[in-house]
Amino acid sequence: EEAVRNDELVYQHDSRRHEAQWELSLLTQLDRAIDNGEVWVAYQPKLDVKSNRIAGAEALVRWTHPERGPISPDKFIRIAEEFHRIERITRFVVNEAVRSAVNLARLGYDFSMSVNISAQLLRNPGLPGMISEILAAHGLPPEKLVLEITETDRLDRSSRTFQMLQRLVQSGLRLSIDDFGTGNATIDYLRYLPAAEVKIDKVFIQAMEANKEDYLLVQSIIEMAHSLDRIVVAEGVETGTALEILKGMGCDTIQGYYVSRPVPFPDLIDNIERKQAR
Ligand code: C2E
Ligand code: CA
Ligand code: CA
Ligand code: CA
Repeated sequence: EEAVRNDELVYQHDSRRHEAQWELSLLTQLDRAIDNGEVWVAYQPKLDVKSNRIAGAEALVRWTHPERGPISPDKFIRIAEEFHRIERITRFVVNEAVRSAVNLARLGYDFSMSVNISAQLLRNPGLPGMISEILAAHGLPPEKLVLEITETDRLDRSSRTFQMLQRLVQSGLRLSIDDFGTGNATIDYLRYLPAAEVKIDKVFIQAMEANKEDYLLVQSIIEMAHSLDRIVVAEGVETGTALEILKGMGCDTIQGYYVSRPVPFPDLIDNIERKQAR
């Protein structure tokens, strides 16, 4: 039995070392991957529940590795954050997303584009400048860009992060509190932040059909957010039943596989045209 346990330990050690090597090799390939088009942006439409129109989309980064296939952003974003590549990736994604938003505006659509900004980047004083440069280069008004932010630390109103968020809002950008309900900063963010939007995490949305507690929680989040004049987005909507429930609760916007998976930009346009968002 002892021998078996030792084998397991050796195996665990080996696989951890293997994992570390794998991460390091990803990191060294990441820079090149951005330059040669392996890294690209997918768009997931956001459906306005009342008008039944696609009123926006979330830009989600993708890495299609030539040998390894798709690599999950949950994986490489974490590595990028750890090794100071997040600014570069974000610049790439925001630039693509803004360019796409301008293309949609030229086609006559009233559209807002959401991008994910990691908490780490909110501590980088260069962030507002980077975003305003991209907006100016393409000519997109800041109100059309939504920054989805997640934060696990409590929000201290004297902190640099809070001042950064204030600055971003003052420059006309809109904020969305992503993964709402999962972090311990949830209520702080709702109280203190001038965020336009609250995005209910998919764990609640996916559990609410079977579980009464989750159902009631989603209902309460929508009521609470509305009483504070926030727009509510539900993510991870996979079924018509979930859509009907959320409609009944007065949820403003839904996003999820039921409407569409994240898709390349041309497919997003097709999707919008089918829904006649113009
Ligand atoms: P997130 O911002 O919470 O994004 C939602 C995730 O849920 C996305 O996974 C999306 O593809 C997935 N999703 C959407 N609808 C459904 C659904 O109906 N069912 C299920 N099961 N999943 C759904 P994805 O694209 O793999 O991204 C994972 C995370 O990686 C994102 O979570 C975000 O935190 C991060 N991420 C993605 N792109 C970027 C980026 O450009 N910058 C940064 N900083 N983070 C990013
Ligand atoms: Ca998001
Ligand atoms: Ca989320
Ligand atoms: Ca997330």
